[in-house]
Formats: sequence, C-alpha cells, structure tokens
Amino acid sequence: MKRASTHDAIIIGAGPAGTSAALALARRGWAVAIVEKSAFPRRKVCGEYISASNLALLDRLGIGDAWRGEAGPEIRRVGLFSGNASIEAPMPGARSGPAARNGFGRALGRDILDTLLLDAARSAGVEVFQPCRAVAIERDGDRQAVRIQATSGSPGEEGMTLRASVIVAAHGSWEPGPLPSQLGKQSRSSDLLGFKAHFTGSALPPDLMPLLTFPGGYGGMVLADRGRLSISCCIRRDVLARLRGSLARERGGHVPAAEAVERHIRATCRGARDALADARLDGPWLAAGPIRPGIRAGYEA
Ligand SMILES: Cc1cc2nc3c(=O)[nH]c(=O)nc-3n(C[C@H](O)[C@H](O)[C@H](O)COP(=O)(O)OP(=O)(O)OC[C@H]3O[C@@H](n4cnc5c(N)ncnc54)[C@H](O)[C@@H]3O)c2cc1C
Repeated sequence: MKRASTHDAIIIGAGPAGTSAALALARRGWAVAIVEKSAFPRRKVCGEYISASNLALLDRLGIGDAWRGEAGPEIRRVGLFSGNASIEAPMPGARSGPAARNGFGRALGRDILDTLLLDAARSAGVEVFQPCRAVAIERDGDRQAVRIQATSGSPGEEGMTLRASVIVAAHGSWEPGPLPSQLGKQSRSSDLLGFKAHFTGSALPPDLMPLLTFPGGYGGMVLADRGRLSISCCIRRDVLARLRGSLARERGGHVPAAEAVERHIRATCRGARDALADARLDGPWLAAGPIRPGIRAGYEA
C-alpha cells in the first residue's frame, strides 16, 4: 500500500450512500477516494427492494439499464402476513412524472447493486481502497487525515493516511466503531437485531411483497434477481435470547441465532411458512445490528 495520498473528498463506505456521493463529486471534477472494508461482491442485511420513484436516480447515476436488466419481477401487490392472516392490496403506482414511465419497483441483491454502483464510481475516476477499513479521522491543518488499514492483509501490513478537506462518513448508521461519526457499543434488551437470507424455490407469488409480523419483530419478503427470494427482518434482542434458550434446552446444545429466527418466523407466521415450504437456503443467513436508524447529530473536529 502507498503510505500517503491527497484527495478533494474521502468517502468512508461503498454502500449506496457512499458510491452515489462519490459519483456525484467525481463527475464534477473532484478527486475522490472511497474506502470500503469489505471485498465485493458482498451480501448485506437489507430487503433489497427499490421503488419505481428511485429509478430516475439510478438512471442519473448511470446504472439504470444494468439495474433493469438484473432486478427481479415487478412488484404490483403489497401484502401483510401476520399470524394466520394474509391480506394484500394493489401496489399504488406513480400516475405522473418519470416514475410513471418506470412502472413498478423491483428487488436486486445488494451483492449486485452495490457492485454496479462501485464499478460506476471507479469508471468515473474514483480511487477505490478495498478491502480497507477507516480506523481514525484526525484534523491535519486545514484538512482531515483518514487512517486506513487493509482488512485482508497480513497482521503486520502497513496502513496509510489519506488527506482531504471533505470527509463523507457513509459507513452505515449502526455499526459501532472508533470513528467520531460511529456509535459506541451498547446492548439493551429492546435492541432490534437484523437478519437476512436468500432462498430459492419459494412459493411466494412473484409480484407480491408482503410485510411479515411475528412476536418480537417484523420483516419482509420479495422475489429478487435470478429467482432468489430475499427475506429480511428485525427481532428484539430479549425475544431472540428467549427463543435460543428454549431451543437449546430442548436440544441440549447451542442454537445459532439465525436458526432460531427462521424457526420462529415459520412457526408464527403462516404466510411466510407457506412461501418457504419447499424453499432452499441460498447462502448463509446474515446478521447485523443492533439496528439504530435515524438522524444523528454530526460532529466537529
Ligand atoms: C432488515 C432491513 C431491511 C431493509 N430493507 C430495505 C429495502 O427493501 N429497501 C431499501 O431501500 N432499504 C432497505 N433497508 C435500508 C437499507 O439497507 C439502508 O438504508 C442502506 O443500506 C443504507 O445505505 P448506506 O450506504 O448508508 O450504508 P450501508 O449500506 O450500511 O453501507 C455502508 C458501507 O460502509 C462500509 N463500512 C462500514 N464501516 C467502515 C469503515 N470503518 N471503513 C470502511 N468501510 C466501512 C460497510 O462495509 C458498508 O459497505 C433495510 C434495512 C434493514 C435493516
């Protein structure tokens, strides 16, 4: 790795927020660096649905056609699966403006979407540091210095320092970490933990996107790209601990959190159980959190 580098803006995180900001700045002639800790493609805890009103933005970012080519079927009905009840209604479509031309929303795996966006940023001249974690931000005269470290390298691998007057903290809103814009570690029984999985062979109607509710949490299901069903949900920490405890007693051993979540959803939400009846897990369950969405105060360095 090079030891030092200077840019106009450094963006921490290559999720949709970071890559969109990077693209916008690079196209206006800024020298931009993105620092992303994970190697791509990577899956992410997310429902992966994008409504039609956002497609104009994807077009402006230059990935609209690629998104249309890859995303799952149009979602024309919304639903609610709760206990034994299943209700549904037509998805309201946009009647005018660019969204009306775009029809209905669809879902695309974050492994694909985020890679499309990062490739577009790279093509626009953004310098990408990946997989590299931003570990500190310090003031350095009239600029900010961001210390980064390779996440895949050998333990002794040197880090480097990037400098810019603008730093964009696009590292997501809930991961705890050492940066001034990140949260400290906290644990409360009411925390919501996020889970996500892909399944193939689901019986969910391809045009239906149901919200799922179950004791202690809620979630959603949607058919995404290549026939993958995307299921994502949040569950309270205390409810999950109780579920795991009772399963562990029943079984006499450790029960993975994701297994407890999946069993709970199947046991308490009939619509989800029916949709997953013959489905097969496609890749491992992912977990994240606690989820702490919301607008937070910025910081002054
Ligand atoms: C259960 C659930 C379902 C959801 N469903 C939907 C949905 O269907 N549709 C929708 O539009 N939204 C959905 N969302 C919300 C959506 O996932 C987020 O709004 C979105 O991911 C935020 O994007 P972002 O770019 O701000 O952050 P993120 O997508 O979190 O990206 C942050 C990036 O920063 C990187 N990073 C973090 N720390 C560092 C560091 N120190 N150094 C370098 N890199 C770092 C991470 O690896 C990551 O790639 C859902 C969220 C949850 C929890």
